Amino acid sequence: MTSVTELAAGVRARGRPALAAAITLVESTRPADRSAAEELVELLYADTGRARRIGISGAPGVGKSTFVEALGMALIADGQRVAVLAVDPSSAQTGGSILGDKTRMERLGREQAAFIRPSPSGQTLGGVARRTREAMLVCEAAGYDTIFVETVGVGQSETAVADMVDMFVLLLSPAAGDDLQGIKRGIVEIADLIVVNKADGALLDVAERAAADYRNALTFMRSMRRDWTPQVMLASALEGAGVGDVGTVIDEFYAVVESDGSLDAARRDQLSRWLWSEIRESVAKDVETDSVEDSRVAGLADDVRAGRVLPPAAARTILGAYRKR
Ligand code: GDP
Repeated sequence: MTSVTELAAGVRARGRPALAAAITLVESTRPADRSAAEELVELLYADTGRARRIGISGAPGVGKSTFVEALGMALIADGQRVAVLAVDPSSAQTGGSILGDKTRMERLGREQAAFIRPSPSGQTLGGVARRTREAMLVCEAAGYDTIFVETVGVGQSETAVADMVDMFVLLLSPAAGDDLQGIKRGIVEIADLIVVNKADGALLDVAERAAADYRNALTFMRSMRRDWTPQVMLASALEGAGVGDVGTVIDEFYAVVESDGSLDAARRDQLSRWLWSEIRESVAKDVETDSVEDSRVAGLADDVRAGRVLPPAAARTILGAYRKR
């Protein structure tokens, strides 16, 4: 069996099998693998931090994989190495997967300079997010210049992803029903860049109108950043139009946030929120594990279900008992 040190060396040497094995390790849900996974990320941490971390979100069918492939190919043509990690909350909810069950990004997948990894299925959103964060760090240590973290815009996964990336790109389609009422305001608020995709053929006019509407709507929203005004752009991932311009805007974004220190500050804040989410997750898990055999806890859970006790009071009692142990 390969040791963690050997695995780390393999990742740093940019070996694909080592990278795949390393990500499998950080994604493992076996408690026995957790400490090795942690050790691995610790060993690699000094080699992380140089990559661009870009979140891409959008409803199923909006063109995320087509877009990531087109942009990824453009970056590779510029000499970059590109990794794509997918966060798929549908797999957590249904055991199936919106992202994973079709053949995606075939062209990009054939590139030596690209690495594509679908999300682990059957995990909670918190679990997926934690492992994606670690998988991202592993990819950085393997020398990838840009990491795309792709997520389906159907749930809370956007905020989880926004909290691990530098820049959050929201893909929208020009199709009807996609007006601002239809998409969650919260998601638009965290977007640094909105791309109206499928701006081609018969949809071009609609896309232009949609982009104007979004631009207008954005002027009424408070921007999350002081140094960057969210942009709205048109693209056709299928035909390639506008994809290079998106690349240019990404460059502009980094030029701003790198020069004024806000990239560093944001990453530091993310680390601190990561700390607290680790604490929340592991405390919750400990309490749950600890309480499984406790008949009083089972009784309280029944009381909550029957409406005799409210969840906050029951939670306080269970936590109190846990602390005394
Ligand atoms: P995802 O589910 O968001 O990853 O969407 P896909 O990338 O799989 O694309 C869904 C469908 O939309 C596919 O049939 C694509 O060929 C099509 N599509 C993606 N981008 C464009 C585009 O820019 N223009 C047009 N007309 N179709 C597109």
